[in-house]
Amino acid sequence: MALFSKGESLVTEQQVLDALRTVQEPELGGDLVSRKMIKEVVIKGGAVAFTVELTTPACPLKDQIREECEAVVGRIPGVSAITIDFTAVVRPNSGIPDQSAIPGVANVIAVAAGKGGVGKSTVAANMAVALAQEGANVGLLDADVFGPSVPLMLGASGQPEAFETAQGQAMMVPLEAHGIKLISIGFLIDESQPVIWRGPMVTQLLRQFLYNVAWAPLDYLVVDMPPGTGDVALTLAQSLPLTGALIVTTPQTVATIDVIKAMQMFRKVNVPLLGIVENMSYFIAPDTGKRYDIFGTGGAERLADQLQVPLLGQIPLGMSIRAGGDQGIPAVVGNLPDSYAEIFRQVAQQLAARISVMAFA
Ligand code: ADP
Ligand code: MG
Repeated sequence: MALFSKGESLVTEQQVLDALRTVQEPELGGDLVSRKMIKEVVIKGGAVAFTVELTTPACPLKDQIREECEAVVGRIPGVSAITIDFTAVVRPNSGIPDQSAIPGVANVIAVAAGKGGVGKSTVAANMAVALAQEGANVGLLDADVFGPSVPLMLGASGQPEAFETAQGQAMMVPLEAHGIKLISIGFLIDESQPVIWRGPMVTQLLRQFLYNVAWAPLDYLVVDMPPGTGDVALTLAQSLPLTGALIVTTPQTVATIDVIKAMQMFRKVNVPLLGIVENMSYFIAPDTGKRYDIFGTGGAERLADQLQVPLLGQIPLGMSIRAGGDQGIPAVVGNLPDSYAEIFRQVAQQLAARISVMAFA
């Protein structure tokens, strides 16, 4: 008897692919099969397994993609179980001329602000660690030579080791903390000694931090930029092989005026603006749960509208964010109630998604 009972009917790879052809990649457009995102389809009886290859491990729409895949494959007669694995291949950003790209580093993200004290380093550190928590290879370069805070915020200290490549090139080994690679001027000089940085010196130093540090392989290199639009910031914006810039601001009007200048600076030198993060957006009193808009509201939204740049998120004031920064435990690691780890993670996902979209534009 050649009759199959239910559950034994033959599901074919073709049926699975045809079903998955009806699922769209929500941000990049096109279906998962045409985009070559479906890998390793394995069928055993009614059990279907396959892998979806994303453009970033921090994809904010992973759950939506999973649900849609399960729904369409589940409708194929005879399918009794579905297993979906996710992998990711982060594409190198194509906007950068080959000669200036850092070998093995797919994307370089500048985190910038109109002025100091708005939480640029806090955002840079938490973005970097959040992307690593999602499974990306991440580096954090402290380029704020005027106020290096990466050593303190990540709880890292010590002298990076040096080695020579087969070609005789001197290289530094980045330190590691919380799953990311780190380099800061703070590892190399005595921070209590005043250093007068001039534009060309900083550019020279940072070129070494980019090209003479064993970063590779990295999906994202996050750069904590010097604040403002002075000589040093401008030279860096111009000379670093940047995928784009993430702008950090607070809601006060003053901050938004400075921040417009910073954004215009990046535009002038053709560095794409990835988005705005509003930090210290509001405060929720831990005892009453009441929200206070300490610095006013709507500043970043207006700015985002005005300059046509997405507002990627709003991070509240949180005591644990500050405390974590001082203790070398970033908010996304500490995960305390008012460290707002989830908000930082969502911002990191939005950032990664923007970069993916850009890489395919
Ligand atoms: P910048 O790098 O722009 O100068 P920092 O990241 O060093 O700013 O932040 C300045 C201070 O504010 C630090 O003490 C930091 O811990 C604190 N801070 C930053 N963001 C927040 C926040 N959302 N909630 C509470 N404290 C914050
Ligand atoms: Mg800083």
